[in-house]
Amino acid sequence: MIIEKALKILKQPVCDNCLGRQFSQLLSGFTNAERGRAIRMVVAMAADAGDASIDASSVPGFKLRNKPSVSECPECSVCFGIFNELGKYAKKAAAQAKKTEFSTFLVGTRPSSELAAAEDALWERVGIDHCEPLKAEINREVGKLIEKQIGKKFSAKQPDVVFLIDLTAKAVGMEINPFFIYGEYQKLKRGIPQTRWPSGKYKTSVEQITAKPFMRATGGSGHKFHGAGREDIDARCLAWRPFVLEILDPKKRDIDAAALAKKVGAGVKIRNARLSDIAEVRKLKEARLDKTYRALVKCSAPVSRKDLAKLSALKQIGQQTPRRVLHRRSDLMRRRSVKGIKAKYINAKSFELTVKGESGLYIKELISGDEGRTTPSVSAILGVQCVCKELDVIEVHVK
Ligand SMILES: [Zn+2]
Repeated sequence: MIIEKALKILKQPVCDNCLGRQFSQLLSGFTNAERGRAIRMVVAMAADAGDASIDASSVPGFKLRNKPSVSECPECSVCFGIFNELGKYAKKAAAQAKKTEFSTFLVGTRPSSELAAAEDALWERVGIDHCEPLKAEINREVGKLIEKQIGKKFSAKQPDVVFLIDLTAKAVGMEINPFFIYGEYQKLKRGIPQTRWPSGKYKTSVEQITAKPFMRATGGSGHKFHGAGREDIDARCLAWRPFVLEILDPKKRDIDAAALAKKVGAGVKIRNARLSDIAEVRKLKEARLDKTYRALVKCSAPVSRKDLAKLSALKQIGQQTPRRVLHRRSDLMRRRSVKGIKAKYINAKSFELTVKGESGLYIKELISGDEGRTTPSVSAILGVQCVCKELDVIEVHVK
């Protein structure tokens, strides 16, 4: 079977790599060039033994004893000799590598349409059992050469950079993968949004304040901030909220995250800073974390300590999307639970409320009732209009 397939392939001139690659999924521990060489040797022996179905031109370069040999090797009709040029691509990659600091890399190849068509034509003729695509072999073989040249590690999993070989342009590009830093933040000042505000309405954000020392250390071109939820702009976050900071295009990766976290200033504090990855971003985004809030509540009419005791009745809350976020969220009805509530009397018209709420519960509306869109509410139970004057997140319940 193998020999039959080999003979079929050898009807057109192919190099050892392209021959061996059609049997790539058989045996491990060999390069495709080695596989191709071994198969061709067997075919050459069969030709020498007098197998009339094999033309000597199928096995050029072998010295046959019983037949005239063909010494001239024609150009491979599948790869057009690309495997003789891989060293040039590795050199170009090494030159790109000087621009940035990294330790792992991956190689990607974009074949020319000519190469893609030649491979398709071969597969159509001989089938695809046991084969490997041309670009996969190029990626691996160039990867080996780059490893040797620059002493960095080839890694399919989360590489720092990706070298892109464009076989049409005969060029090598480099993409720098983002760099991720995990941390937990406190926002100690009101009036700062969590992420950069596109309109420039707010001069700064937790994102910008946090990113500053990390941008300087890594030479990144930009950043993204992935928080485990977010607090309102006018709310403080006294709890430690998990986040991942993503640095785009970092030129340096060897940083001391904990030391840089100490340089984050002006209203934001960071702890537990360390290196992270994209998987942790996904995890953070999916996490539905309960939060505990402390609110200063003002009432339109006097309430008594006894009235405040009634608030323990707040358990299952129906919340229609608050009016203040309707411009960016769809108008939906949600059910959210209050997992704990405590009120501390300050005076007849104000009290402090501590609420543990399920992820997604809007606290300001839980207090005001949002004109009947949140029900039941603190206002409805007390029978007076209440508003949240100050809000702090005091605990993020990380499961
Ligand atoms: Zn070839």
